[in-house]
Amino acid sequence: MATQRLFFAISLPEEMQQQLVRWRADTFPAEAGRPVVAANLHLTLAFLGEVAPDTAQRLQTLASRIVQPGFDLDLDDAGHWPRPGVVWLGCQRAPRGLLQLASLLRAQAARHGCYQSPQPFHPHITLLRHATQPVALPPRGFHWRFRVTTFSLFASEYARGRSHYRTLASWPLSPQEPYALHPTA
Ligand code: ATP
Ligand code: MG
Repeated sequence: MATQRLFFAISLPEEMQQQLVRWRADTFPAEAGRPVVAANLHLTLAFLGEVAPDTAQRLQTLASRIVQPGFDLDLDDAGHWPRPGVVWLGCQRAPRGLLQLASLLRAQAARHGCYQSPQPFHPHITLLRHATQPVALPPRGFHWRFRVTTFSLFASEYARGRSHYRTLASWPLSPQEPYALHPTA
């Protein structure tokens, strides 16, 4: 069977997508770059590239066994990477749970032959693409928070000039710490 272009990511609640789209329109002029459509706003945890069905199945099984608590994501940082032409939203301090989840998925991907960039993981949500000219970034002080309770595997499909991400599977993050530490008297 044919390979699929896959990635693990966190998707945004619809309400958050709408808020971000409004803020983006107020914050960046139209010439700054091409806005990513609301439904495509996401935070990539691990990019897998073109993957054969049996490898995808194994990675899904491993993902389903991950036991990890959910975490709050504070979106309070923005930046511009002129070379890939990306304006992004991220966090000044990435939560430990996010780094742990990404690092586990990336390690599993690497063990299954999916090339992982040696560059450090920089969690971000791409807001604008084709942003190759200088962009005025908003001053710090903006802040959104949402609780991450699931993560998903997506197939990235390209048709009629645009990318569409199809959700293949989603897994919950546990609502509480799996092991509570109680102070001893
Ligand atoms: P398009 O490439 O059509 O502009 P896209 O970049 O959103 O759209 P993909 O290239 O399929 O679609 O990428 C899916 C996700 O994986 C995106 O978040 C993208 O930033 C990320 N990604 C793509 N290539 C890599 C890579 N080599 N290393 C790390 N992340 C990647
Ligand atoms: Mg791409």
